[in-house]
Amino acid sequence: MSLIRTNLAKVPAYRPGRAVPGMIKLSSNEVPDGPGPEVLRAIADAVRSANLYPDLHATELTTKLATACQVGAERVAVGSGSVALLRSLVNVVCEPDDEVLFCLPSFEGYPLLVRIGGAQAVHVPATAGHELDLDAMRTAITPRTRLIFLTTPNNPTGTAIRREDLEHFLAQVPGHVVVAIDEAYREFVTDPGVPDGLEYARSHDNVVVLRTFSKAYGLAGLRIGYAVAAEGIAAALNTLRIPFSLGAVAQAAAIAALDGQEILQARCRRITAERDRIRRELLEHGYDVPPSQANFVWLALGDESTAFAQHTEKHKVIVRPYPGTGVRVTIGTPAQNDTFLGAARDYAHHRP
Ligand SMILES: *Cc1c(COP(=O)(O)O)cnc(C)c1O
Repeated sequence: MSLIRTNLAKVPAYRPGRAVPGMIKLSSNEVPDGPGPEVLRAIADAVRSANLYPDLHATELTTKLATACQVGAERVAVGSGSVALLRSLVNVVCEPDDEVLFCLPSFEGYPLLVRIGGAQAVHVPATAGHELDLDAMRTAITPRTRLIFLTTPNNPTGTAIRREDLEHFLAQVPGHVVVAIDEAYREFVTDPGVPDGLEYARSHDNVVVLRTFSKAYGLAGLRIGYAVAAEGIAAALNTLRIPFSLGAVAQAAAIAALDGQEILQARCRRITAERDRIRRELLEHGYDVPPSQANFVWLALGDESTAFAQHTEKHKVIVRPYPGTGVRVTIGTPAQNDTFLGAARDYAHHRP
């Protein structure tokens, strides 16, 4: 008999974005700049008390997030990255073999988290326009469906769900199914037709919004995420958090980062301007690139995806290929982006 739970044998490994020293890494949706001076100061202060356990309940951070999200603190859960909260959510919601529905391609963490939770992943292909197929997702709901991941903007395609589509979808999902709106890239949204998921978390008991400090806030290395949910779900998520897993340095950095909203907005403006420039240039070179609301673009290259990624590596740029589907390219500094565009232009000229 195996010493390991039998259904863990099939847990897929998480594949991080490739990194090669000396090359430009546009494969993990990181922002190009490190923390600003205020955040660095908060980190330095916190690290001096590293002999002490962190605040178990992350009270100050939770209170600040609640104010920012216009909900009571009892509706906020924090965790070491939004992946930790997504994983807990599966455990909070799903009985063994319940179904968790999500789009493909989408965040590659989902299949892994669902498996570990003992649930079943059900995926629905994206539309021809690389968007979440909400009609197909609704049709895929069965009596076993307990949880739906809506990724908006979607990783890796960059597309976001529009207000009327989200509202139509939510109106049709049975009330006992939890809809987790994964807004890891929310801060990069510039299209006013894309709603703020928090609106629905406030008004629907079965809607959970997940956000992170890893992307626009630029704190991926410190691991902080949060969820806004109905009180019962938020309490369950906080209960499932491993005690003290949200460290003191992470809490202090997140608090300082929240206080730096102008810095955040300026960073997002720079990145989204670059995103729109890159997309325009790629379209001019004949690439199929859906409009992105995130800090990356998606090149729907199908069978050429692996070859394209190999080509950009010759130009010292690492992108993220999804073999047979497409390539995700994170927005870097203007100079990094120019190097990537040079590689993409070159590829387009020598395209098979
Ligand atoms: C990056 C990402 C996450 C995880 O973020 P962490 O907070 O770093 O765990 C979750 N969902 C999506 C869609 C992401 O792209």
